Amino acid sequence: MPVPALIIGGGPAGSAAAITLARAGLKPRLVERHMVPPRGVCGGFLGWDALTALKDLGIDPWALGARPITRFRLIARDRTVMADLPAKAAGLSRKTLDSALIDAAIAAGADVTRGQAARAIDPLARTVRLDDGEIIAANAIFLATGKHEMRGLARQFTHSSVGLRASLPPSPARSEALAGLVELHLFDHGYAGLLLQEDGSTNLCLSISSDRLSRAGGIAPLLAELMSEAPALAARMDDAGPPHFEAIAGVPYGWRARESDDGIFRIGDQAAVIASLAGDGIAIALTSGASAARAMLDGGGGAAPGWQRSMNRQCRRPLSIAEMLRHGAALPLPRRAMMALVRRVPQLGTRAAALTRIVRG
Ligand SMILES: Cc1cc2nc3c(=O)[nH]c(=O)nc-3n(C[C@H](O)[C@H](O)[C@H](O)COP(=O)(O)OP(=O)(O)OC[C@H]3O[C@@H](n4cnc5c(N)ncnc54)[C@H](O)[C@@H]3O)c2cc1C
Repeated sequence: MPVPALIIGGGPAGSAAAITLARAGLKPRLVERHMVPPRGVCGGFLGWDALTALKDLGIDPWALGARPITRFRLIARDRTVMADLPAKAAGLSRKTLDSALIDAAIAAGADVTRGQAARAIDPLARTVRLDDGEIIAANAIFLATGKHEMRGLARQFTHSSVGLRASLPPSPARSEALAGLVELHLFDHGYAGLLLQEDGSTNLCLSISSDRLSRAGGIAPLLAELMSEAPALAARMDDAGPPHFEAIAGVPYGWRARESDDGIFRIGDQAAVIASLAGDGIAIALTSGASAARAMLDGGGGAAPGWQRSMNRQCRRPLSIAEMLRHGAALPLPRRAMMALVRRVPQLGTRAAALTRIVRG
Protein backbone atom coordinates (compact mmCIF):
# COMPACT_ATOMS: atom_id res chain seq x y z
CA MET A 1 0.00 0.00 0.00
CA PRO A 2 1.50 3.39 -0.92
CA VAL A 3 1.79 5.91 1.90
CA PRO A 4 -0.19 9.11 1.20
CA ALA A 5 2.91 11.33 1.44
CA LEU A 6 6.61 10.58 1.80
CA ILE A 7 8.99 13.36 2.78
CA ILE A 8 12.70 12.85 2.20
CA GLY A 9 14.74 15.05 4.53
CA GLY A 10 13.90 16.52 7.93
CA GLY A 11 15.39 20.02 7.58
CA PRO A 12 13.17 23.13 7.68
CA ALA A 13 11.46 22.32 4.36
CA GLY A 14 10.69 18.67 5.13
CA SER A 15 9.55 19.37 8.69
CA ALA A 16 7.32 22.27 7.57
CA ALA A 17 5.64 19.96 5.05
CA ALA A 18 5.28 17.19 7.64
CA ILE A 19 3.75 19.52 10.26
CA THR A 20 1.27 20.95 7.74
CA LEU A 21 0.21 17.54 6.40
CA ALA A 22 -0.02 15.92 9.84
CA ARG A 23 -2.07 18.76 11.29
CA ALA A 24 -4.53 18.34 8.42
CA GLY A 25 -5.01 14.71 9.44
CA LEU A 26 -2.86 13.01 6.80
CA LYS A 27 -0.17 10.81 8.36
CA PRO A 28 2.95 11.58 6.32
CA ARG A 29 6.10 9.46 6.52
CA LEU A 30 9.34 11.44 6.88
CA VAL A 31 12.80 9.91 6.42
CA GLU A 32 15.83 11.78 7.80
CA ARG A 33 19.34 10.40 7.51
CA HIS A 34 20.63 11.84 10.80
CA MET A 35 19.53 10.48 14.17
CA VAL A 36 19.95 13.95 15.69
CA PRO A 37 19.94 17.25 13.73
CA PRO A 38 23.57 18.26 13.07
CA ARG A 39 24.80 21.84 13.42
CA GLY A 40 24.69 22.08 9.62
CA VAL A 41 26.38 24.55 7.27
CA CYS A 42 24.21 27.66 7.66
CA GLY A 43 24.49 31.21 8.93
CA GLY A 44 21.55 30.77 11.33
CA PHE A 45 19.97 34.08 10.29
CA LEU A 46 16.17 34.01 10.47
CA GLY A 47 14.62 36.84 8.48
CA TRP A 48 11.25 38.35 9.40
CA ASP A 49 9.59 36.16 6.76
CA ALA A 50 11.12 33.04 8.36
CA LEU A 51 9.84 34.26 11.76
CA THR A 52 6.31 34.60 10.35
CA ALA A 53 6.50 31.14 8.76
CA LEU A 54 7.68 29.66 12.08
CA LYS A 55 4.82 31.35 13.93
CA ASP A 56 2.36 29.84 11.43
CA LEU A 57 3.87 26.42 12.21
CA GLY A 58 3.46 27.01 15.95
CA ILE A 59 7.20 27.42 16.68
CA ASP A 60 8.37 30.29 18.88
CA PRO A 61 12.06 30.95 18.14
CA TRP A 62 12.32 33.42 21.05
CA ALA A 63 11.32 30.66 23.47
CA LEU A 64 14.21 28.64 21.95
CA GLY A 65 16.63 31.44 22.84
CA ALA A 66 16.87 33.22 19.46
CA ARG A 67 18.83 36.50 19.60
CA PRO A 68 17.11 39.55 18.10
CA ILE A 69 18.75 41.22 15.09
CA THR A 70 17.66 44.60 13.76
CA ARG A 71 20.68 45.85 11.75
CA PHE A 72 23.41 44.59 9.48
CA ARG A 73 27.03 45.64 9.20
CA LEU A 74 29.02 45.24 5.97
CA ILE A 75 32.81 45.23 6.17
CA ALA A 76 35.20 45.19 3.22
CA ARG A 77 38.86 45.64 4.19
CA ASP A 78 38.97 48.94 6.12
CA ARG A 79 35.47 50.12 5.13
CA THR A 80 32.42 49.55 7.30
CA VAL A 81 28.79 50.47 6.67
CA MET A 82 25.67 49.82 8.73
CA ALA A 83 21.99 49.75 7.84
CA ASP A 84 18.70 48.80 9.46
CA LEU A 85 16.94 45.62 8.43
CA PRO A 86 13.39 46.19 7.19
CA ALA A 87 12.03 44.31 10.24
CA LYS A 88 13.21 42.37 13.27
CA ALA A 89 15.16 39.19 12.46
CA ALA A 90 16.85 36.60 14.68
CA GLY A 91 19.93 34.44 15.14
CA LEU A 92 19.41 30.81 16.13
CA SER A 93 21.55 27.71 15.65
CA ARG A 94 20.31 25.21 13.10
CA LYS A 95 20.64 22.40 15.61
CA THR A 96 18.07 24.07 17.89
CA LEU A 97 15.80 25.14 15.04
CA ASP A 98 15.81 21.79 13.22
CA SER A 99 15.26 19.88 16.49
CA ALA A 100 12.22 22.02 17.35
CA LEU A 101 10.76 21.56 13.86
CA ILE A 102 11.16 17.80 13.65
CA ASP A 103 9.83 17.40 17.22
CA ALA A 104 6.77 19.44 16.19
CA ALA A 105 6.27 17.15 13.17
CA ILE A 106 6.34 14.09 15.43
CA ALA A 107 3.98 15.74 17.93
CA ALA A 108 1.58 16.54 15.07
CA GLY A 109 1.46 12.84 14.13
CA ALA A 110 4.04 12.42 11.35
CA ASP A 111 5.66 9.00 11.13
CA VAL A 112 9.37 9.93 11.36
CA THR A 113 12.21 7.51 10.65
CA ARG A 114 15.62 8.87 11.69
CA GLY A 115 19.05 7.49 10.92
CA GLN A 116 18.01 6.17 7.49
CA ALA A 117 18.92 7.79 4.18
CA ALA A 118 16.90 7.53 1.02
CA ARG A 119 19.31 6.13 -1.58
CA ALA A 120 17.42 6.50 -4.85
CA ILE A 121 14.09 7.64 -6.14
CA ASP A 122 12.06 6.45 -9.10
CA PRO A 123 9.94 9.51 -9.88
CA LEU A 124 7.65 7.76 -12.36
CA ALA A 125 6.89 4.78 -10.10
CA ARG A 126 6.94 7.15 -7.08
CA THR A 127 9.07 4.76 -5.08
CA VAL A 128 12.06 5.45 -2.86
CA ARG A 129 14.72 2.99 -1.72
CA LEU A 130 16.16 3.43 1.76
CA ASP A 131 19.59 2.49 3.13
CA ASP A 132 18.27 -0.74 4.63
CA GLY A 133 16.71 -1.84 1.32
CA GLU A 134 13.12 -0.94 2.25
CA ILE A 135 11.20 0.35 -0.76
CA ILE A 136 8.46 2.86 0.00
CA ALA A 137 5.75 3.63 -2.55
CA ALA A 138 3.95 6.95 -2.09
CA ASN A 139 1.06 8.87 -3.65
CA ALA A 140 3.15 12.03 -3.32
CA ILE A 141 6.84 12.56 -2.61
CA PHE A 142 8.28 15.74 -1.09
CA LEU A 143 11.96 16.03 -2.01
CA ALA A 144 13.52 17.99 0.86
CA THR A 145 17.13 16.79 0.81
CA GLY A 146 18.35 20.41 0.81
CA LYS A 147 22.01 20.75 -0.12
CA HIS A 148 22.25 17.04 -1.03
CA GLU A 149 21.43 15.45 -4.36
CA MET A 150 19.08 12.50 -4.68
CA ARG A 151 19.90 9.86 -7.26
CA GLY A 152 17.12 9.93 -9.85
CA LEU A 153 16.30 13.62 -9.28
CA ALA A 154 19.69 15.35 -8.98
CA ARG A 155 19.80 19.09 -9.73
CA GLN A 156 21.78 20.06 -12.82
CA PHE A 157 24.20 23.00 -12.48
CA THR A 158 27.62 24.08 -13.65
CA HIS A 159 28.89 26.72 -11.21
CA SER A 160 28.86 26.18 -7.50
CA SER A 161 30.21 27.45 -4.22
CA VAL A 162 31.46 25.87 -1.05
CA GLY A 163 29.86 26.61 2.33
CA LEU A 164 31.77 26.40 5.61
CA ARG A 165 30.58 26.81 9.19
CA ALA A 166 32.20 26.90 12.61
CA SER A 167 31.27 28.01 16.13
CA LEU A 168 33.43 30.57 17.92
CA PRO A 169 33.26 30.31 21.73
CA PRO A 170 31.46 32.97 23.78
CA SER A 171 33.58 36.07 24.36
CA PRO A 172 32.76 39.51 25.80
CA ALA A 173 34.33 41.21 22.75
CA ARG A 174 32.18 39.33 20.22
CA SER A 175 29.06 39.67 22.40
CA GLU A 176 29.51 43.43 22.44
CA ALA A 177 30.46 43.79 18.76
CA LEU A 178 27.66 41.57 17.43
CA ALA A 179 24.78 42.49 19.77
CA GLY A 180 21.62 43.10 17.75
CA LEU A 181 23.21 42.68 14.32
CA VAL A 182 24.44 40.35 11.64
CA GLU A 183 27.90 41.13 10.29
CA LEU A 184 29.02 40.34 6.76
CA HIS A 185 32.68 40.49 5.74
CA LEU A 186 33.00 40.82 1.98
CA PHE A 187 36.06 39.64 0.06
CA ASP A 188 36.95 38.40 -3.40
CA HIS A 189 34.68 35.52 -4.50
CA GLY A 190 32.92 35.13 -1.19
CA TYR A 191 31.92 36.44 2.20
CA ALA A 192 31.82 35.48 5.87
CA GLY A 193 28.79 36.00 8.11
CA LEU A 194 28.81 36.28 11.90
CA LEU A 195 25.99 36.34 14.40
CA LEU A 196 25.37 35.46 18.04
CA GLN A 197 23.57 32.21 18.83
CA GLU A 198 21.31 31.29 21.73
CA ASP A 199 24.17 29.93 23.87
CA GLY A 200 26.33 33.05 23.49
CA SER A 201 28.65 31.44 20.94
CA THR A 202 29.13 33.03 17.52
CA ASN A 203 28.12 31.29 14.33
CA LEU A 204 30.71 31.87 11.62
CA CYS A 205 29.75 30.85 8.12
CA LEU A 206 31.72 31.33 4.94
CA SER A 207 30.71 31.04 1.35
CA ILE A 208 33.43 30.89 -1.28
CA SER A 209 33.50 30.03 -4.95
CA SER A 210 34.74 26.51 -5.60
CA ASP A 211 37.37 28.00 -7.96
CA ARG A 212 38.87 30.24 -5.29
CA LEU A 213 38.98 27.41 -2.75
CA SER A 214 40.77 25.11 -5.17
CA ARG A 215 43.20 27.90 -6.19
CA ALA A 216 44.01 28.42 -2.50
CA GLY A 217 44.68 24.68 -2.15
CA GLY A 218 42.34 23.91 0.74
CA ILE A 219 40.56 25.41 3.75
CA ALA A 220 43.68 26.17 5.85
CA PRO A 221 45.54 28.12 3.12
CA LEU A 222 42.29 29.89 2.17
CA LEU A 223 41.81 31.02 5.77
CA ALA A 224 45.39 32.28 5.86
CA GLU A 225 44.69 34.36 2.73
CA LEU A 226 41.46 35.72 4.22
CA MET A 227 43.11 36.75 7.47
CA SER A 228 45.19 39.33 5.59
CA GLU A 229 42.46 40.22 3.08
CA ALA A 230 39.80 40.72 5.80
CA PRO A 231 41.62 42.09 8.87
CA ALA A 232 38.37 42.85 10.73
CA LEU A 233 37.37 39.19 10.36
CA ALA A 234 40.78 38.15 11.67
CA ALA A 235 40.21 40.42 14.69
CA ARG A 236 36.81 38.80 15.41
CA MET A 237 38.45 35.36 15.37
CA ASP A 238 41.50 36.46 17.29
CA ASP A 239 41.06 34.66 20.61
CA ALA A 240 39.02 31.74 19.25
CA GLY A 241 41.80 29.34 18.27
CA PRO A 242 41.73 27.43 14.97
CA PRO A 243 38.05 26.89 14.13
CA HIS A 244 36.75 23.45 13.26
CA PHE A 245 34.82 23.85 10.01
CA GLU A 246 32.01 21.75 8.65
CA ALA A 247 31.87 22.05 4.88
CA ILE A 248 29.42 21.52 2.06
CA ALA A 249 30.47 21.56 -1.58
CA GLY A 250 28.37 22.11 -4.69
CA VAL A 251 26.04 24.88 -3.51
CA PRO A 252 24.30 26.02 -6.74
CA TYR A 253 23.30 29.61 -5.93
CA GLY A 254 20.59 30.92 -8.21
CA TRP A 255 19.33 27.46 -9.18
CA ARG A 256 15.53 26.99 -9.45
CA ALA A 257 13.37 23.96 -10.22
CA ARG A 258 11.37 25.07 -13.23
CA GLU A 259 9.12 22.04 -13.38
CA SER A 260 8.33 18.77 -11.68
CA ASP A 261 6.62 15.45 -12.35
CA ASP A 262 3.17 14.51 -11.16
CA GLY A 263 3.36 13.58 -7.49
CA ILE A 264 6.83 15.09 -6.90
CA PHE A 265 7.08 18.32 -4.91
CA ARG A 266 10.60 19.78 -4.77
CA ILE A 267 10.80 21.98 -1.67
CA GLY A 268 13.42 24.09 0.13
CA ASP A 269 16.84 24.08 -1.54
CA GLN A 270 15.46 21.48 -3.93
CA ALA A 271 13.05 24.15 -5.20
CA ALA A 272 15.33 27.22 -5.19
CA VAL A 273 18.77 28.13 -3.84
CA ILE A 274 19.04 31.80 -2.95
CA ALA A 275 22.49 33.35 -2.40
CA SER A 276 23.19 32.71 1.27
CA LEU A 277 24.27 36.29 1.90
CA ALA A 278 20.62 37.26 1.45
CA GLY A 279 19.74 35.05 4.46
CA ASP A 280 16.42 33.87 3.01
CA GLY A 281 17.03 30.14 2.44
CA ILE A 282 15.33 29.04 5.66
CA ALA A 283 12.30 31.21 4.86
CA ILE A 284 12.08 29.66 1.39
CA ALA A 285 12.36 26.20 2.94
CA LEU A 286 9.60 26.80 5.51
CA THR A 287 7.31 28.61 3.09
CA SER A 288 7.71 26.14 0.23
CA GLY A 289 7.32 23.13 2.55
CA ALA A 290 4.07 24.42 4.01
CA SER A 291 2.63 25.66 0.72
CA ALA A 292 3.47 22.43 -1.18
CA ALA A 293 1.75 20.48 1.59
CA ARG A 294 -1.36 22.66 1.27
CA ALA A 295 -1.32 22.21 -2.52
CA MET A 296 -1.17 18.44 -2.07
CA LEU A 297 -4.00 18.48 0.47
CA ASP A 298 -6.14 20.46 -1.99
CA GLY A 299 -5.26 18.74 -5.26
CA GLY A 300 -3.39 15.50 -4.48
CA GLY A 301 -0.12 14.51 -6.18
CA GLY A 302 -1.41 15.89 -9.50
CA ALA A 303 -1.04 19.42 -8.07
CA ALA A 304 2.77 19.11 -8.04
CA PRO A 305 3.66 20.41 -11.54
CA GLY A 306 1.44 23.52 -11.20
CA TRP A 307 2.67 24.22 -7.67
CA GLN A 308 6.30 23.87 -8.78
CA ARG A 309 5.81 26.36 -11.63
CA SER A 310 4.20 28.85 -9.28
CA MET A 311 7.03 28.45 -6.70
CA ASN A 312 9.52 29.02 -9.53
CA ARG A 313 7.74 32.29 -10.45
CA GLN A 314 7.63 33.41 -6.81
CA CYS A 315 11.38 32.84 -6.41
CA ARG A 316 12.53 34.38 -9.70
CA ARG A 317 12.85 38.02 -8.64
CA PRO A 318 14.38 37.63 -5.16
CA LEU A 319 16.85 35.06 -6.47
CA SER A 320 17.90 37.32 -9.38
CA ILE A 321 18.40 40.29 -7.05
CA ALA A 322 20.34 38.15 -4.57
CA GLU A 323 22.54 36.87 -7.42
CA MET A 324 23.25 40.46 -8.53
CA LEU A 325 24.26 41.38 -4.97
CA ARG A 326 26.37 38.23 -4.59
CA HIS A 327 28.26 38.81 -7.83
CA GLY A 328 28.68 42.52 -7.04
CA ALA A 329 29.98 41.84 -3.53
CA ALA A 330 32.47 39.29 -4.85
CA LEU A 331 34.38 41.73 -7.11
CA PRO A 332 36.45 44.73 -5.95
CA LEU A 333 34.94 47.52 -8.06
CA PRO A 334 31.23 46.76 -7.70
CA ARG A 335 31.87 45.95 -4.02
CA ARG A 336 33.38 49.39 -3.47
CA ALA A 337 30.44 50.99 -5.30
CA MET A 338 27.92 49.06 -3.19
CA MET A 339 29.68 50.05 0.03
CA ALA A 340 29.78 53.71 -1.03
CA LEU A 341 26.07 53.67 -1.92
CA VAL A 342 25.01 52.14 1.39
CA ARG A 343 27.29 54.54 3.28
CA ARG A 344 25.62 57.52 1.60
CA VAL A 345 22.06 56.17 1.63
CA PRO A 346 21.70 53.42 4.24
CA GLN A 347 18.03 53.00 3.22
CA LEU A 348 19.28 51.43 -0.01
CA GLY A 349 20.78 48.60 2.04
CA THR A 350 17.49 48.21 3.90
CA ARG A 351 15.61 48.13 0.57
CA ALA A 352 18.00 45.54 -0.91
CA ALA A 353 17.41 43.31 2.11
CA ALA A 354 13.63 43.62 1.57
CA LEU A 355 13.87 42.80 -2.14
CA THR A 356 15.60 39.48 -1.54
CA ARG A 357 12.61 37.94 0.32
CA ILE A 358 10.27 35.51 -1.39
CA VAL A 359 7.47 36.55 0.93
CA ARG A 360 7.05 40.29 1.27
CA GLY A 361 5.46 42.10 4.11
C1 LIG B 1 27.18 29.01 3.77
C2 LIG B 1 25.70 29.09 3.88
C3 LIG B 1 25.11 29.95 4.78
C4 LIG B 1 23.72 30.06 4.86
N1 LIG B 1 23.17 30.93 5.75
C5 LIG B 1 21.83 31.10 5.82
C6 LIG B 1 21.24 31.98 6.75
O1 LIG B 1 21.93 32.58 7.57
N2 LIG B 1 19.88 32.13 6.73
C7 LIG B 1 19.10 31.44 5.86
O2 LIG B 1 17.87 31.64 5.86
N3 LIG B 1 19.63 30.55 4.98
C8 LIG B 1 20.97 30.35 4.95
N4 LIG B 1 21.51 29.43 4.11
C9 LIG B 1 20.61 28.60 3.31
C10 LIG B 1 19.94 27.51 4.16
O3 LIG B 1 20.93 26.80 4.87
C11 LIG B 1 19.15 26.57 3.27
O4 LIG B 1 18.43 27.28 2.32
C12 LIG B 1 18.18 25.72 4.11
O5 LIG B 1 18.88 24.94 5.03
C13 LIG B 1 17.34 24.84 3.21
O6 LIG B 1 16.53 24.01 4.01
P1 LIG B 1 16.12 22.56 3.46
O7 LIG B 1 15.20 21.99 4.47
O8 LIG B 1 15.71 22.67 2.05
O9 LIG B 1 17.50 21.74 3.43
P2 LIG B 1 18.55 21.36 4.55
O10 LIG B 1 18.55 22.35 5.64
O11 LIG B 1 19.83 21.10 3.83
O12 LIG B 1 17.97 20.01 5.15
C14 LIG B 1 17.95 18.84 4.38
C15 LIG B 1 17.74 17.66 5.30
O13 LIG B 1 17.63 16.48 4.51
C16 LIG B 1 18.45 15.46 5.06
N5 LIG B 1 18.84 14.59 3.95
C17 LIG B 1 19.66 14.90 2.93
N6 LIG B 1 19.75 13.88 2.08
C18 LIG B 1 18.97 12.88 2.59
C19 LIG B 1 18.64 11.57 2.16
N7 LIG B 1 19.15 11.07 1.04
N8 LIG B 1 17.79 10.83 2.92
C20 LIG B 1 17.27 11.34 4.07
N9 LIG B 1 17.56 12.57 4.53
C21 LIG B 1 18.38 13.34 3.78
C22 LIG B 1 19.60 16.20 5.70
O14 LIG B 1 20.24 15.42 6.71
C23 LIG B 1 18.91 17.45 6.25
O15 LIG B 1 18.42 17.24 7.55
C24 LIG B 1 22.90 29.28 4.03
C25 LIG B 1 23.48 28.39 3.12
C26 LIG B 1 24.86 28.28 3.04
C27 LIG B 1 25.47 27.31 2.08
